[in-house]
Amino acid sequence: MSEWKPVVGLEIHAELLTHSKMFSACPVVDSVTAPPNTAVDPVSLGLPGTLPVINQQAVEMAMMVGLALNCEIPPINQFARKSYFYPDLPKGYQISQYDRPLAIKGMLDIDLDDGTTRTIRVRRAHLEEDTGKSIHIDGYSLIDYNRAGVPLLEIVTEPDIHSAEEAEAFARKLRSILQYLGVNDGDMSKGVMRIEPNISVMHKDDTGYRTRTEVKNLNSIRSLFRSIEYEVKRQIKAWESGEGVRQATMGWDEARQRTVVQRYKESADEYRYFPEPDLPVIEVSREWVDDVRSRLPELPDAKRDRFVREFGLSRYDAAVLTAERPVAAYYDAVIAGGAAPKSAANWITSTLFGLLNRDGIERERAGEKIAPERLAALVKLVDDGTINKATGVTVLNEMWETGGDPNAIVQAKGLAQISDAGAIEAAISKVLNENAKMVEDYLGGKDKLFGPIMGKIMGELKGQGNPALIKETLNRLLDAKRG
Ligand code: ADP
Ligand code: MG
Repeated sequence: MSEWKPVVGLEIHAELLTHSKMFSACPVVDSVTAPPNTAVDPVSLGLPGTLPVINQQAVEMAMMVGLALNCEIPPINQFARKSYFYPDLPKGYQISQYDRPLAIKGMLDIDLDDGTTRTIRVRRAHLEEDTGKSIHIDGYSLIDYNRAGVPLLEIVTEPDIHSAEEAEAFARKLRSILQYLGVNDGDMSKGVMRIEPNISVMHKDDTGYRTRTEVKNLNSIRSLFRSIEYEVKRQIKAWESGEGVRQATMGWDEARQRTVVQRYKESADEYRYFPEPDLPVIEVSREWVDDVRSRLPELPDAKRDRFVREFGLSRYDAAVLTAERPVAAYYDAVIAGGAAPKSAANWITSTLFGLLNRDGIERERAGEKIAPERLAALVKLVDDGTINKATGVTVLNEMWETGGDPNAIVQAKGLAQISDAGAIEAAISKVLNENAKMVEDYLGGKDKLFGPIMGKIMGELKGQGNPALIKETLNRLLDAKRG
């Protein structure tokens, strides 16, 4: 296995969240929930005599992605016709970009679990239109054209990815950037972002690339990961047995967790690309690029670095909190609610994420379970000493179950921390009197008995004592016994 190294390049299709379609004023609708064929017009149906018009919002969104991926935006880009026949493509050709894409030569840094960072080069990003959707039911084939003509951005990497983990990290990072830019909601299960890995393997003695296969239209990061692992193993075996690998377009069989060949080989020639005669080239002035650049929001890496700088978070915590835009927004809202940034980060990444994890709820939906103002209130109750940390965890669990307000829970259950010096001293005296032997042993040198004595006092105070005050008072009373 170690003689071989995976080589992967990704092609990612992302629908753009524009108001209207790529080449007409036809509205874009949610392709899962909208009734079929309710968002169509003569252009997206490819009726004879219609003419396309370029959607400026789509061009600017594509430029934003190009800039976020550190691409060059050439002064001219151009659409081309890519001809193929398929029922969900009513014109018989797709308008795409070919030799003059909108963005080229970019790169994206990905962080791996072992703490290292790698740079993956982005070859190009180009605009095109999505196709309709074929649905096969009971021996019938139905077509929904709502999706036909929806702006689609295709992003292509260089074959710089060398493991399934790296492919996953790239996909997650790209999805995060698209979400931050507000150009795609990243919901792969709905098909708004689809990934196609090109996969080959390289032997340690090789001086060039070997034949690759391409796995079409994956709609989850898990299937991206699994299909790469599967294909790499399959190809290594095929080379080692002497059988070799044939260039092929494959599908991922989710049920059987394996790749299956769809067709062998296909080349650009078969698409008979030529410049789209019905559209002008797009001239991109430097002023336009600068204007779009100035409208870019803060992106995940910059936000992470700012959280480290401004709030003193660890790089790891900051990365976790900024990986998904909704999570970063949740954290921002907790701080806006008055919680100290560092405490808020701890409560979210440890306790709250723990609960989300346990119940299989996605992090970006945290706010539906615990409103950010309520988490802020809880963090404040702990930080100002009203309740201690352990009680805080209990209260958060209660909030999780009932959606209740932390102040109300603390009041109703009488959980407020006991910081009254008299009450604490009384509890300590009681414990010291009832455990004379333990106290004697402690004073005789068994230092490790301090913890258990603390524990008994906390028990006496029903877990609600102020730990710092107990510790301080206990030390004072024990010192007094030493005489
Ligand atoms: P085209 O589709 O125009 O022929 P390429 O085949 O060069 O373009 O690249 C398509 C995708 O396949 C890119 O993401 C590229 O990085 C990737 N790729 C190219 N060669 C290999 C290879 N030998 N192994 C894995 N991926 C590859
Ligand atoms: Mg392609």
